[in-house]
Amino acid sequence: MKYTVITGASSGIGYETALAFASRGKNLILVARRTEELEKLKSKLTEINSELDIIIRTVDLSVTANVYEFYESIRNYQIETWINNAGFGNFASVGEQNLNKIETMLHLNIEALTILSSLYVRDYAKVEETQIINVSSGGGYLIVADAVTYCATKFYVSAFTEGLAQELKGNGAALQAKVLAPAATETEFGKRSIDADEFQYEGVVPKFHTAKEMAGFMLELYDSTKVVGIVNGETYEFQLRDPIYPYVTRTRKDA
Ligand code: NAP
Repeated sequence: MKYTVITGASSGIGYETALAFASRGKNLILVARRTEELEKLKSKLTEINSELDIIIRTVDLSVTANVYEFYESIRNYQIETWINNAGFGNFASVGEQNLNKIETMLHLNIEALTILSSLYVRDYAKVEETQIINVSSGGGYLIVADAVTYCATKFYVSAFTEGLAQELKGNGAALQAKVLAPAATETEFGKRSIDADEFQYEGVVPKFHTAKEMAGFMLELYDSTKVVGIVNGETYEFQLRDPIYPYVTRTRKDA
């Protein structure tokens, strides 16, 4: 039995991605903090296809020890695809940002993603037909005012994942690494970014995709051999592209 891991599957893009991968007959390991939401999603997925094996794990991935513990707990499953989607944003100027929230954001968006990617690469680099998809953002290629720190975390995700993709290709690895870079998408992201109970996208955000549309783009990226799947911030078209950041291979002289 093969599995697809999706972090941050209790809402938004991760939730819809779980439905999209289930429609492809994929067994899933779903991770987030809200057990009840994961249970509801599991019931829905089982109704759609009772043959699927759906495993849920309640984990706060912003705590480093939990990240290692979680990976260890699923080590015996054969994982064909790993999707690091869990993440959140924050809208505030750097001088005014809530540093407790920022610390958690750095732990989740950067640290957990790096640890999980590295462990997956260590175990699966040579395994045929495996993929790792890390969810960045349009803000991983363009700095957005009042979201400087969030964008910096996503610049990290983009640079790390594009670099990983280059490294794997250079080593002749079987594993493919890819970056999904959504633009505004209607999810719980909006309200979490501004610490509000509700956030209405319609009428406030000029253009946005639904989470279901974004899960469709995730599948397009999954099916392609390109490294980057990015939403054009002006036209909102989804584009599959080669790595965007410059990359150099190290020579003896550089070392
Ligand atoms: P969302 O609806 O808020 O989903 C975020 C997911 O991450 C939830 O399932 C949440 O579940 C999980 N999560 C949050 N903190 C966690 C933690 N400490 N440990 C484990 N899981 C945690 O927002 P979304 O838009 O779908 O976000 C998915 C990804 O897309 C994020 O990486 C985000 O940065 C990126 N993105 C979003 C947009 C956008 O406009 N929506 C644009 C560009 C990029 P729990 O709360 O249950 O833990």
